[in-house]
Amino acid sequence: MKCSLCDKEAVREIPYMKMYLCREHFIEWFDQRFIRDSKRYRLFENSKRVAVAVSGGKDSTTMLHLLSQASKQLNIEIVGLTIDLGIDNGTGYSRKSVETAVKNFEIAHVKYKVIDLGSDYNFTIDKAKRGTNRPACSVCGLSKRYILNAAAEEMDADTLATGHNLDDMAQFIFSGYVYGNLESLSRNSMVNPPERGYCVKKVKPLFFTPEGEILHYAILRGYPFIYDPCPYSSEFGSVSQERIGDMMKSMEAKMPGTMMNMVKTFEKQIRPALHDIYSRDEDVGRCKLCGRPTTKDREICSFCSIKNKLAAKQ
Ligand SMILES: [Zn+2]
Ligand SMILES: [Zn+2]
Repeated sequence: MKCSLCDKEAVREIPYMKMYLCREHFIEWFDQRFIRDSKRYRLFENSKRVAVAVSGGKDSTTMLHLLSQASKQLNIEIVGLTIDLGIDNGTGYSRKSVETAVKNFEIAHVKYKVIDLGSDYNFTIDKAKRGTNRPACSVCGLSKRYILNAAAEEMDADTLATGHNLDDMAQFIFSGYVYGNLESLSRNSMVNPPERGYCVKKVKPLFFTPEGEILHYAILRGYPFIYDPCPYSSEFGSVSQERIGDMMKSMEAKMPGTMMNMVKTFEKQIRPALHDIYSRDEDVGRCKLCGRPTTKDREICSFCSIKNKLAAKQ
């Protein structure tokens, strides 16, 4: 197939645009769309310093380089954050993840900070896996949220960017419908203002970018990234998430553009309606131990309570 814009051989089909693109035109289109979407959806309106959370995977790595390339046009300063979660389980997962993130910060000439769950907070996901009965993914998710918010504030960032892609969003939305998690759906936007006691705005610049395009782009650009899945990703809770993901992929194969339609409809029509229902000003409390935001009914935030539980066991 020939490129829709020139005579060269196409390397990628963009089904929802009815377009085929050669290597150069794919890269150019991908870069331009990133800037156009960031402006159209006002991701960085009033942002000055953006903390970019990088895990070393293809999505966050690509986002880091796109943001650093576009920082002048978007009028923002970029700083990097990566967390050593202490996930090993015989695979060296966290070590590889941090090394790769750091390599990319250096390539992009971005100032960065590595937060080490083990030495900074005295627990690791491996320890939590052995010492609590919560699924590793749930401890990991809440730890990441806690640490990224705190670290972004410490670095004087007003915005925190994470690398969620279109496929992640389609899966999140679909499973939200299946399990009825309407409140968390109401907060799942491409851009979330600071709320409920937090100081940073949260943005997901790759919200409408399909995973396959990100992977292809990262390879064409030659960015170093890790392919390794987390060693805990085959746990029970994540398996059902993965099945939902597979279902979305097969639907996409039969009806190209389904995920894009689903996520666009959600962001434009469904989420605003949900937000109106769930946006009542929730009372925010402060954790008695760390002072960070918590829900009014909890004296100690969920991060501190897991940390304490593990410390007591040592
Ligand atoms: Zn071309
Ligand atoms: Zn706390």
